Amino acid sequence: MGCGHSKVIPDLNKDVARDGATKQDGAKNTGTAAKYAFSKTAEGSKSSDENDDKKQKGSQANKIAKYREKFDQRVIAKYDVKALIGKGSFSRVVRAEHKGTKQPYAIKMIEVKQREGRSAADSELRVLRRVRHPYIVQLIEVFEAPDKIYMVMELATGGELFDRIIKHGSFTEMDATKALQMVLEGLRYLHSLGITHRDLKPENLLYYHPGNDSKLLITDFGLAFSRKASDEIMMKTTCGTPEYIAPEVLLREPYTNMVDCWSVGVISYILLSGTMPFDDENKTKLYHKILNAEYNFDGEPWPQVSETAKKFVKSFLTPDPKKRMSCTAALQHSWITNFGNLSTRNLQRSISQNLLKRASSRNSNKSAHSSKSAKSNRSLRSQHRKVKAKELDDLLKKYNRVSRLPPY
Ligand code: ADP
Ligand code: MG
Repeated sequence: MGCGHSKVIPDLNKDVARDGATKQDGAKNTGTAAKYAFSKTAEGSKSSDENDDKKQKGSQANKIAKYREKFDQRVIAKYDVKALIGKGSFSRVVRAEHKGTKQPYAIKMIEVKQREGRSAADSELRVLRRVRHPYIVQLIEVFEAPDKIYMVMELATGGELFDRIIKHGSFTEMDATKALQMVLEGLRYLHSLGITHRDLKPENLLYYHPGNDSKLLITDFGLAFSRKASDEIMMKTTCGTPEYIAPEVLLREPYTNMVDCWSVGVISYILLSGTMPFDDENKTKLYHKILNAEYNFDGEPWPQVSETAKKFVKSFLTPDPKKRMSCTAALQHSWITNFGNLSTRNLQRSISQNLLKRASSRNSNKSAHSSKSAKSNRSLRSQHRKVKAKELDDLLKKYNRVSRLPPY
């Protein structure tokens, strides 16, 4: 079984419409904001060379026309497709505008002909139809066709977490706690409903609008596990993104929603330093490091980071899930609750430098036409696409299925 679980999808043509309540919160998230974010993303990574710029715009326009053609007539009748803003293995995300209200939305189109696409769509819908929380992306309506599913969602126009850190001149521990508090509140809510996200990472955390006071939204529930009760759930499916995956998943042991807490530990580490706690181009070495919680607080800017913050990260990056900090405990951790008294030392310079260093080493052989921000963005993405169960089994077999891999 893949990470999604194929269960019943509601009837064709039966739109699941939610009211427009979420839009009230989004006074700033209007067309203007959308255009702003749009110009920072797929539509307009501006090149200094005008010809390149024109070419890019032309090819972007062609792409949009292509996507428009592919869209179901029912969707096109109600929404104007404006720009492509995201791409996954089975999905395309476009910015669209409601023809009547002119309100901008994100529409995620998932190809469901293949089993994995169907399974991701099922997982995502099962979660989005149940949740309503300020820090979780809101589903507005769904269109289903035999080979595609279209999810109309509220549009996040503020960009990804790390793009914002690079762009802003300042980033302090207080800023880190503000972001993490929102992620933890959203996650605590999900866990209380029996939902485990299973793919928490920076690119799935989006700012709602470009303003400084924007909230963060947890998105992308394609790998989520969901069940009705909030009691302890044991999951078995091997899935997630390698750099963010918890040791118990790598060990192919039954696991609980504590896997999400591990990922928040990884995100916290990155937020405070601009580097990844576990990073290796070789997957075996990467997994070895994760299984042994082999990370450190060396290098810049760690000497400037408070001990409380390091303890917070350590409590999450604890290999034994039973000893790992839960979301509820994290929200009560003094680093989070004391944020008013936290250090306002600016860590932005070191963090940005680390992020950009990583970006340039990762992208040295990539397109020279990419803008700086697009480069940094790509560099933060996982180097390894997927965790494969077979690969892990082979690895564990090689080491006699011991519960911790021996040194490589
Ligand atoms: P995948 O499963 O393919 O990773 P995601 O749901 O993460 O799909 O969407 C892919 C990308 O599309 C995201 O990384 C983000 O850049 C963009 N995106 C997704 N949902 C939204 C949204 N509601 N608002 C704005 N951008 C979005
Ligand atoms: Mg994603």
